[in-house]
Amino acid sequence: MATLGPDDQTFELKQDQELRFEVENAQIEIEVTSGLAEIFGVELVKSKKYLFPIGAKGAVYTWHGCSITMKNARKNMTYVSKETPMNYYMNVHIILEKQRSEAEQQSKRGPITMIVGPQDVGKSTLCHILLNYAVRMPGLNRKPIFVDLDVGQGHVSVPGTIGALVIERPATIEDGFSQLAPIVYNYGHLTPNANLELYQHCVERLWKSVDERMNKDSKTNSSGMIINTCGWIKGDGFKCLMACAKSLRVDNILVLDQERLYNELIRELPKSYDVVLLPKSGGVVDRSRQFRAEARDKRIKEYFYGSRLKPFNPHSFDIKFGEVQIYKIGAPVLPDSCMPLGVTATEFLTKVVLVQPGPSLLHHLLALSFATTESEILEQNIVGFVCVTHVDMLRQSLSVLCLQARPLPCSKLILTDIQYMDSN
Ligand code: ADP
Repeated sequence: MATLGPDDQTFELKQDQELRFEVENAQIEIEVTSGLAEIFGVELVKSKKYLFPIGAKGAVYTWHGCSITMKNARKNMTYVSKETPMNYYMNVHIILEKQRSEAEQQSKRGPITMIVGPQDVGKSTLCHILLNYAVRMPGLNRKPIFVDLDVGQGHVSVPGTIGALVIERPATIEDGFSQLAPIVYNYGHLTPNANLELYQHCVERLWKSVDERMNKDSKTNSSGMIINTCGWIKGDGFKCLMACAKSLRVDNILVLDQERLYNELIRELPKSYDVVLLPKSGGVVDRSRQFRAEARDKRIKEYFYGSRLKPFNPHSFDIKFGEVQIYKIGAPVLPDSCMPLGVTATEFLTKVVLVQPGPSLLHHLLALSFATTESEILEQNIVGFVCVTHVDMLRQSLSVLCLQARPLPCSKLILTDIQYMDSN
């Protein structure tokens, strides 16, 4: 163990306590020196040093007690809390495990669990905890699917997408869950209400892909699904949640910290849904609009450049306008009186429209579609993204940042509302 400086601190945690931190001024380094501890369901290796950069927020939790040293603790916001909801979350895990075991014995589908609540109540964190606990079950080889419907942050791919990932091993503290072979659908906006029709369409398509994947693998099938949602829960947001629950054949709904939402769901949903109200952790931090925007940028940067431990080397190259077809989904809705005969407003919202390349594409992410024809654009999932870094009207070309070298893996691209200024 390294010697402690004046800003460093040691903490002795008793059972069921957590050390919360918000890194505001200088990166911290955490080391467990005795006992067992975890961060959001990921066990920390004793004597290993974990770095957390400015902006990180989290908590080291212990079921049995532990000692921790933290470098730069005094330069940041840190405190020990004796009040955590981890016992409630563990009970949920135990019930899910029972349902998974029953599903396995009867060769049936395991529990499909959706986590709902307003913004900043710890929905994503609870997803992480439950997934990590599932795959940490000794000798059971659980393979649950993580479904992320939160287009505002994008935990599976970049913001503006919904996606699914089969989880086979616990996340790492540094890089989260392994991102191998995710199923990603491009929605292209940061909130579901930008185009609800398209959002629901993407959720339906995602269900078809996930259903297929589960039917092919009995372990995944019996392990079930954990679904993360957006914090949009009022009015149309509530209707959207109900529609998602139906599309994804949800069994259990965990409501974080909102009695009103809990009661609305109980009232509106058929009795077959198991709706449970859970407390949020007092440690969950409210994030400002600016913090969210920065987190989105960081997510996109990570998509192209990787992380500190696993850096990627993206490529930059030019593509001629003529080499690709760029589409946008959703034509502006016209007033009823101007609608072409037999066309409804809903059809306009999911209409695939060819876009003339031009300066307005600058900094936008373009999704690379698996579609081979225009009619498949809405139905197909996507290969990945490129970011437009320059538009040259004279040479009729675009410069793009792309994870792979030339040529592009496909010629059909979809314009998104998501923007990223590449400063690397
Ligand atoms: P939501 O998905 O509901 O918007 P998150 O799960 O993303 O909320 O949590 C919001 C923030 O709070 C995240 O930065 C997360 O790391 C942090 N957080 C969650 N639980 C705790 C906790 N117990 N202590 C400290 N920070 C926490």
